[in-house]
Order: sequence, then C-alpha cells, then structure tokens
Amino acid sequence: MANVRIDRVTKVYGGDVVAVREANLEVHDEEFVVFVGPSGCGKSTMLRMIAGLEEITEGDIYIDERRVTDVLPKDRDIAMVFQNYALYPHMTVYRNMAFGLKLRRVPKAEIDGRVRGAADILGITKLLERRPRALSGGERQRVAVGRAIVRDPKVFLFDEPLSNLDAKLRVQMRAEINKLHTRLQATMVYVTHDQTEAMTMGDRIVVLDGGVIQQIDTPLRLYDHPHNRFVAGFIGSPPMNFVDGELNGAGDGRVFEANGVRLELPPESAAALDDRADGPVTMGIRPEHIRPDGAFVAGSPGSAIHAGVDVVEPLGSEILVYLAAGEQTMIAKIEPSVMPRVGETMDVALDLERVHFFDADTGESLTD
Ligand code: ADP
Repeated sequence: MANVRIDRVTKVYGGDVVAVREANLEVHDEEFVVFVGPSGCGKSTMLRMIAGLEEITEGDIYIDERRVTDVLPKDRDIAMVFQNYALYPHMTVYRNMAFGLKLRRVPKAEIDGRVRGAADILGITKLLERRPRALSGGERQRVAVGRAIVRDPKVFLFDEPLSNLDAKLRVQMRAEINKLHTRLQATMVYVTHDQTEAMTMGDRIVVLDGGVIQQIDTPLRLYDHPHNRFVAGFIGSPPMNFVDGELNGAGDGRVFEANGVRLELPPESAAALDDRADGPVTMGIRPEHIRPDGAFVAGSPGSAIHAGVDVVEPLGSEILVYLAAGEQTMIAKIEPSVMPRVGETMDVALDLERVHFFDADTGESLTD
C-alpha cells in the first residue's frame, strides 16, 4: 500500500476552464479519503489526475513517493472503480475479474486464486459464471470492486461508484466498502457529491468548491469547525441556518443583531470576535442547536427567539420546524415530544456555544 501526494496541482481544460487550482493534499498510507463537493467542483478531475487519465497542467503527483506525473495509467499501480461499472458484457464475471491480470501475464493458477479470493470477500462466488446482464446493479458494482481487488493495487480510486444504485442498496454498499477498507487496509480515494456518503465513509474529507480545496478534515471536525461558510452549508442536512446581521457593542456587551434575531454573546464567543470591528457578519447555527425545551429557553435570555411556525415536517425520530422571526427563516430540528402546529408561535433559544460567525464578504469563519 502507499500514500498519495498531490503537490500544487492545477488543471486547466482547453486553455481557460480551471477545473482544479493549486491543490495540495497528502493521502496517508491505508487512509480512506473522500473528495466531496457540488457538481463541477473538480472532484472527478482530481481523481482522474491521480489515475493518470487526465494530464496535469501544473504541479506533481506522487504515489508511494514516486513521481507519477508523466507515468501512464497502467504503470501507476492503481485500480479504479467507475460509476457505470465498465464491465465487459460478453465476458463472465470470472473473466471480467481475471482480464486485467491475464493482460499482465500473471500465471493462471495465481489468477484463479486471486479471483476466487476476491469473490469470497465480496460474496459473489456463486455469480462467477454469469454475464453482467444477468446481474443486479449491486452485484455488478461488487464485480467492479472485485476487479479492482484482484489487482492488489497500491491505491484504490472510486469515482461515484454507488450513484447508480437505489437508496437502500447505496447505504448497504457504503457499509460494505467501509468493511472492505478495514479488511484490506488499503489506501482509498473516493469521489462523491453526497455529503452523507462522505461523512460516513471518510477518515478524512476534502471539500472542494470551484476547483479549490476548501477544507481537509475529519468528518466531525468539518461538521463542528467549518473553516468557511461554504463548508458550513455543504456539510450537514438540513443545512446550517445563516442569518446576515451586524456585530455591535464591545467586551461583555457584544451583540449580534439582525431583523428578528438578537444574540448577546457569551464571553467565549465575544473573545473569539475580539479583533473584529463592529459591522456586517453572517451568523450560522445548525438546526439541532435551535432548542425549544422550556428550561433551556428560560435559562438563555440572551438568545431567545419568539418565532412563527411556518412548516412542520415530522421525520419519525425528529421533527423539522421551519421558523419565521422578523425577516429570518430558520429550520430547527427538534425531538418529536414537542409537536408544534403551523400558524402558532414558538419560543426557542439558540445554543450560543454552537453559534458560528462568518465574514460577510469572504465567508471565512471568524470563530473556527
Ligand atoms: P465534478 O466531478 O466535481 O462534477 P469535474 O472534475 O468533472 O467536476 O469538472 C470540473 C470542471 O471542469 C467543470 O467546470 C467541468 O465542466 C470542466 N471539465 C471537466 N472535464 C472537461 C473536459 N474534458 N473539457 C473541458 N472542461 C471540462
């Protein structure tokens, strides 16, 4: 197994489309790193450059400390699993899995051992003599993964491998790929546009937007300490609520004010914002940190909000409540024991220890 190092890599398509800009990243040996971001953010381009399927405009890529920038894909010792499986329709599962090894003139007995070993790991031994058209989507995806495993590559690359599967199967395959990672102790790089998939699979997540890496961190650090408004809004569902307003006052009297929301900042938050002059900022609060419980509201006079209930979405284990306060709308995620009704008003309080502030212009976090 191996590490992957991306060193100031830029990719420009056709002279003017900058798909990736000055990316720096080290994927450690045996690590599972996920690239996530909206469509067009450059995540597939990053993966394809590691695979050697896309030329690098500037910078270098190293696999296992060997510079591979100009090395052909077949000589990089990587295996890639694609979204569309890319299986040969006229070959059986066995031959699909064996094909790459055969091309490399691996002895027949060894091929057989590797194919059967991988099939066993993936639970597809019974399918070895079938052709791809006689397989379900999930089974095809397993075969595609099996084809990667038999190669015993230094690095596994996954390009949105689960996006053609239905929701239930996706969750199941997600867990299987996680288990596979633990079992093989392999270095894996995985691309998805789905933040839940990223959060549940990655040791670390690379969040991309507009071809620029926004933050590289563990799932929980990304969730609790987003470096900017983009990351804060992209990770988490429903997304973080944002309120544009102003910082005013000084020292102990620091407040955040917007139409409908007024927060008296506790000393810790005020201290974090000490260097910040009064003026426009964006406040961010996650839905679960807007709380309706009476004791909390009573004990939080500095962050209480009297809001109208616009929409109620019961999800079973929790309820989403769309609140309106002044010009602000916010989503609160609350326990089902409280069942607010549309059209009523509701008292809630923001957990001030979980409030984020962002620069109104750059979106940079002022608190993390
Ligand atoms: P993602 O995988 O995050 O959806 P991509 O890496 O596929 O994004 O694309 C990043 C950007 O590069 C997009 O703006 C896309 O339109 C552009 N792009 C991708 N491939 C090509 C190409 N072959 N030629 C020109 N532009 C491309």
